[in-house]
Order: sequence, then C-alpha cells, then structure tokens
Amino acid sequence: MIIVPEREIADLVSAADCFVAIERVFASMASKSAYNFPVVREAIGHADALYGFKSGFDRESLALGLKSGGFWPRNGERGLTNHQSTVFLFDADSGRCRAVVGGNLLTALRTAAASAISIKYLARSDAKILGMIGAGHQSTFQLKAALDQRAFEKVVGWNIDPGALGRLAAVAAERGIPFEAVDLDRLGAEADVIITITSSFAPILKASQVRPGTHLACMGTDTRGKQEVETELVAAATVFTDEIAQSVEIGEAQHARAAGLLSASDITEIGSVINGSHPGRRTADEVTLFDGTGVGLQDLAVASVAVELAVSKGVAIDVNF
Ligand code: NAD
Repeated sequence: MIIVPEREIADLVSAADCFVAIERVFASMASKSAYNFPVVREAIGHADALYGFKSGFDRESLALGLKSGGFWPRNGERGLTNHQSTVFLFDADSGRCRAVVGGNLLTALRTAAASAISIKYLARSDAKILGMIGAGHQSTFQLKAALDQRAFEKVVGWNIDPGALGRLAAVAAERGIPFEAVDLDRLGAEADVIITITSSFAPILKASQVRPGTHLACMGTDTRGKQEVETELVAAATVFTDEIAQSVEIGEAQHARAAGLLSASDITEIGSVINGSHPGRRTADEVTLFDGTGVGLQDLAVASVAVELAVSKGVAIDVNF
C-alpha cells in the first residue's frame, strides 16, 4: 500500500494536473462510465463538525475509493484548515487498499478545477471582469484557477467580512491584475463571471444584481440548507452541474427545486458539454450557472494523479499492509 502524505502534495500535483484529471472524470460521469455512490454527511454533534464519505468508481481509469473527512469550522483558531480529508484508493480487481492520500490541498485544487472548467466551457469568450464572493480558504485557489481561463482585466470582490479580501487582492497583484473591493450591486453590474465560495445559509446575490450574459460558478453550497444566490436567479439561469442528483439534494439548485421552479431534468451535467453532446452556452445574453457540489470521483481522480506522481518521483511511502 502506498501512502502519499499531505506534506508531499504541494510539490507533486499542480493545478493544471487537476484541471486535466477533473475534466476527464466529468466527461466519464456524463458518459456513464463513472458514478458516485450516495454521500454520507452527518453533523456529529462534536466541535460543530460535519463529517462524511464521498465515494465512487470510474470504470475507465479504474479509480475506486472514497474520501473521508469534512468541515471543522473552528479549526482556524488552531492553525488548521477547516476542511480535513483523506482519500483511500482501492484496487478495482482485488479490493485491496492501494493508497492513502492526504486530501486537504487536493480538495482545494479539485474544487478550483471544477469552477475553472465551468468557466472554460460556459463563460463568454470575451469575459473581462471576474467577481469573487467569499474570501475564505478555498477562495484563492478558485481565483487562481479562474484567472487561467480568460483574459481577465480586473477582479472585483465581496466578502461578509471585507478584511479577508486582502488574500484575493494579493493573488490578483501576483498576476498583475487590479483588484477592487465592491458592494454586491457593483459586483453584479461589472462582473462577466462570478464565483461564489462561501459557507452561507442564506442567499447573498440577488437575481436583480446579475446582468445578462453572466456566468456564475456557485461552489460553496455542498450541504442541505446552504445557499449563496437567490432561488429566482437559479430558476432563471441555464443550470449545469457536476452531478444532477447532488445538485438538487445538496447543491445550490436544492432551493429552486424545493420551490417548484426547477426540476432535475432542467439541469445539465457539465460532462455533457465537455463530451460535446450539449452545446453549453447558447446565446451571449444567457445567464449560465454551474452548481459545483463536489463529487467523490473528483477526489479519486486527483488522488490517483498524486499516487502516480509520488511513485514516479520516489516520494511514495510503501507500506507492507
Ligand atoms: P472558510 O471557512 O475558509 O471560508 C468561508 C467563507 O464564507 C468566508 O469568506 C466567510 O466570510 C464566508 N461566510 C461565512 N458565513 C457567511 C455568511 N453567513 N454570509 C456570507 N458569507 C459567509 O471555508 P472555505 O474552505 O473557503 O469553503 C467555503 C465553502 O465552500 C464552504 O461552504 C465549503 O463547504 C464549500 N466547499 C465546497 C466544495 C465543493 O466541491 N463544492 C469543496 C470544498 C469546500
């Protein structure tokens, strides 16, 4: 059995590696070669933590396994990231445990890859201004991956606590792009692409604040009850997702579905756009919305890359198990 510790991931796996792996697995999901098993996610009644499992199997790559972990909201006080996770990969032919891989950085990279893929396939090609809502741990990964997808000339950002926006400003500065902290009205009025990455349980962005042609990547809602944008905004948009079952149960689309404004059949898997079986954005004025819920197959895909690279670079720990 191979162990790839968390400390090795940063030097092994790049954002570009993750982009390729996630694009491939989304395509496999849409062609029904890969599927996710039902998610287990529980409030454990300790440390305000949400803990669970995400698992699946990709018949094309033979990635089989699970990510176990969750969200510990007070970890920041202890110098730890709020998301803690570990990926376990199993040999699809024998069921033996093949690898244990640190999943914290990989989670951020695979989540950022998902929104970046949605921008690649759904945002207008002339998008110039990127709007960021949320400035927590994930936000800088989201921003970096998004900036690679279009020739963005400016980043505008909003966070409930504006003091945290400095981390987004720093990333924009590294790329030589101006950053401005704005209110939500200005953010919606200026941005061509908007990423939401918060842990909000109430809508932040209203339908009236978003202009025609915008692409939204809603990445924060991954649990029942969370919500980042107004239900009417989801209902009016052309909605894409990583996985439809998750989108209507735990994703941003859960509220529009519950209100009877949207059904599962109105939502398209982004993999269908990658595969070419759905055209994606049809008009320049359409609002497209990617409901990124985060699926186990993403974790297995990037962990598999980490194992491959760790073995080839000689940093994998081989354990006789
Ligand atoms: P974090 O705790 O570091 O940051 C949370 C962000 O949400 C901060 O910007 C904070 O100011 C903001 N926020 C908190 N409460 C809010 C409220 N009531 N209204 C508006 N903003 C609020 O968390 P993170 O690691 O950056 O993760 C952000 C979100 O992304 C979480 O909800 C997490 O569960 C989700 N997430 C989704 C995926 C996925 O695949 N879709 C993957 C990882 C994380």
